[in-house]
Amino acid sequence: MGDQHTVETATGTISVDELGATSMHEHVFTLNAELRINYPWDEEEMVASAVEQLAEFKERGISTIVDLTVYGLGRDLPRVARISRESGMQIVVATGVYTFRDLPTFFRLNEMSRPGFIADFFVREVEEGVGGTGIRPAIFKCATDTYGITEDVETVIRSVARAHRRTGVPISTHAHAASQQGLAQQRILEEEGVDLSRVVIGHVGDIADLEYAEQVLARGSFIGLDRFGISINGMHAEEATPTDERIAIAVELCRRGYASQMVMGHDTNVESDSITREQRAVMPGLKDWRFTYITDEVVPAMRAQGVSQADIDQILIENPRRIFAHGGAY
Ligand SMILES: [Zn+2]
Repeated sequence: MGDQHTVETATGTISVDELGATSMHEHVFTLNAELRINYPWDEEEMVASAVEQLAEFKERGISTIVDLTVYGLGRDLPRVARISRESGMQIVVATGVYTFRDLPTFFRLNEMSRPGFIADFFVREVEEGVGGTGIRPAIFKCATDTYGITEDVETVIRSVARAHRRTGVPISTHAHAASQQGLAQQRILEEEGVDLSRVVIGHVGDIADLEYAEQVLARGSFIGLDRFGISINGMHAEEATPTDERIAIAVELCRRGYASQMVMGHDTNVESDSITREQRAVMPGLKDWRFTYITDEVVPAMRAQGVSQADIDQILIENPRRIFAHGGAY
């Protein structure tokens, strides 16, 4: 496979030059699929809400979001494709498994009886599409949180690494920043022969720890400053990082010359079974957690603090283009 100048989206193949300004870590919905079977929601109301929010984000100049919703988070690609068509927002979709500790039974038992099952499963989704939809994921996702590299988490990371090398499709991670899980992920990916410049280590901007950021950057990966709008640290409310500190980190990293390795996002969603809209409205630290926070607040603040428009364009346009314009399998 030669150089790849096209990228798959929920609604078909586009040139990487058509990605435009891209938010690299978002979700349309994060759900528990079984819960939704037993407790159905108002599908039309939810879709309409998503269409409205993503159309608003697109009006602000963001033309693509990367939806990192994978197994464990209730991925539903026909729904995402419909929302993309109706909102005009291009959506790159992912495959992978989101777990902090144990694999879902389906993956665990199949991997036990047929080692390599999970990597093959990921490759098949990328090459042939998901189910009968024809929709092909264009990025792999794995996650490591406070439990660290459990046996099952390691299986996911190694499976993602192998599927990445067989397809060339890039990798994006959830990595608990305070326990420096990004470095542990890089170590395993490197053991699998992964070129770390084709990996986005997520959630590095969750903590005001430039040393951690620079260690991840030194090994060549992109870093995700990808939870803007949250002023608690993801699921770890005790590690509070207010927005002004998150912006200060971004500004300082640009000043140190790292704009070519940074990507941004909110990691938000229209609705989540873990933090519902009702909960979000009353939870401290989440009032700004919405699409458009980057465009309305973060970018203007970075500009006001001396970050050049060239660096902003590098982060929002050029880096996503480079991540998806990959060099193929290796
Ligand atoms: Zn996420």
